[in-house]
Amino acid sequence: MDIVEEICKDKTVRQYVKGKFLGKGGFAKCYEFQHAEQSYASKIISKASLTRSRARQKLMSEIKIHRSLQHQNIVGFHRYFEDDENVYILLELCTNQTMNELLKRRKRLTELEVQCYLMQILIALQYLHKHKVIHRDLKLGNLFLSDKMEVKLGDFGLATLIEFEGERKRTVCGTPNYIAPEILESKNGHSFEVDIWSFGVIAYTLLIGKPPFETTDVKTTYRRIKMNAYQFPESSIISNSARQLISKILVTEPSKRLTLQEIQDHEFFHGLIPQLLPLSTLACPPSSQ
Ligand code: ADP
Repeated sequence: MDIVEEICKDKTVRQYVKGKFLGKGGFAKCYEFQHAEQSYASKIISKASLTRSRARQKLMSEIKIHRSLQHQNIVGFHRYFEDDENVYILLELCTNQTMNELLKRRKRLTELEVQCYLMQILIALQYLHKHKVIHRDLKLGNLFLSDKMEVKLGDFGLATLIEFEGERKRTVCGTPNYIAPEILESKNGHSFEVDIWSFGVIAYTLLIGKPPFETTDVKTTYRRIKMNAYQFPESSIISNSARQLISKILVTEPSKRLTLQEIQDHEFFHGLIPQLLPLSTLACPPSSQ
């Protein structure tokens, strides 16, 4: 059995049983950890990868931001510790992978499902922005699904805190398909609206089945984003309200995009929306009864 030991502040030792491999990201490997009947997702970051002070600073910023957040739709942060080789971040375990795997299996989702998922993402973003945090890497792969099928926003590796009213951020970051045009133009910096843009990309992707600006090379994707060149496929059977919502979010000028409140009030969300979806929808569309 593989055991990892945490030396606690009071010098007691807490032992975790290292279990199933959950996945791998840019910096971290993720494993299931268990201690006293409680399961966690543990992000393991090798100290050898943190020799540059920039990398260490980024990890510290991720931890500082993530540990300050507590919300039903945000991956819970339990604690972090280190040993000689690694830094360990213990997070709430999300047993149903991410919305990326979900969409790969399902190809695209029904409007009812999209309403349910987007509403949860919206609530997470409202909480984040109220706490002056911009996520900056909102994408399907960072939207985890809990055992109850709740959406949990995770990976705060690119998140940043807005420290004063009107502050503009200038670091170019994000994931190609989801990146907002003002980050690529980088003239006036960017702010909270970059998350709203990515939310629009997510909405389109869930309904249509592929991201709006996707091409085979990153440069062409960036050119398309800057020109706002996307289309709804002619054969697509999405509702007018879904189309209208997306086109009012994927607007080049950040100040002209819908706000989180305006999105929540949009006609697309007016019907009866389920709070959670059944586990069966991981593999098949919900039945219409
Ligand atoms: P990085 O910051 O290095 O990109 P991620 O946060 O993306 O690392 O985590 C890497 C992988 O670990 C994810 O793609 C996912 O498969 C898995 N993972 C991360 N967090 C959790 C979690 N809370 N519950 C379950 N699996 C997780």
